[in-house]
Amino acid sequence: MRSLLKLMRFQLAACLHCGSLQAKEGLLCVPCHRALQSYQTSGGLNATKRRRSLFRWRPGESDLLSVLILNLKGARSAFAWDFYARCFTQKHVSQLSAGRRLRLVPAPSKKGGPDHAYIFAQALARHCGAEFLPCLRKVSRTSQRGSSRGERALIEMELVEKNTVVAEDWSEVLWIFVDDIVTTGSTARAAELALGRPPHFEVWVLAERGVSCGASTDLL
Ligand SMILES: [Zn+2]
Repeated sequence: MRSLLKLMRFQLAACLHCGSLQAKEGLLCVPCHRALQSYQTSGGLNATKRRRSLFRWRPGESDLLSVLILNLKGARSAFAWDFYARCFTQKHVSQLSAGRRLRLVPAPSKKGGPDHAYIFAQALARHCGAEFLPCLRKVSRTSQRGSSRGERALIEMELVEKNTVVAEDWSEVLWIFVDDIVTTGSTARAAELALGRPPHFEVWVLAERGVSCGASTDLL
């Protein structure tokens, strides 16, 4: 029964939160999408963390945002990522300093194939006219034998070998690491290190996850 309901929601494009059949591009109906605005982050760049985001998410405090984020990892999500990439671009891109080229690097997936960070980065690149460069990959644990635990935490990713573009036009480019969710920022630090600490670097995410007390923590 539950899966039938799920299937119906999928087929009829029902709003994820209230079930209304008037869902729009972002997987929510207009009133639910309006309610979502209260979870938008204020302002632009967080200068300390060099981070931009669309939402602030505290699992357990917002059912609406939690249900959206969990479903963005599901099958209906490709159009929705494109929609939220457009929202992100409208919110942030006008503030970027002109004259610097944008290069978007998605967080590498565990399995190496395109995942949600990849889809989000690709959509962002399309909307803000940036270059899309999936040049990072995860480092397998087995190749790190001999490193200390602290070193292993930092060496989480590396450049894809065939990639040579990284060192070119170094100072003219704003390097942007794109992920779906950021919590501690350790993944972004590993990416910055793998890229060789470029002089201009930002992290763009759909949502910044705060300290959690909700059940959905285990799912992400
Ligand atoms: Zn709704």
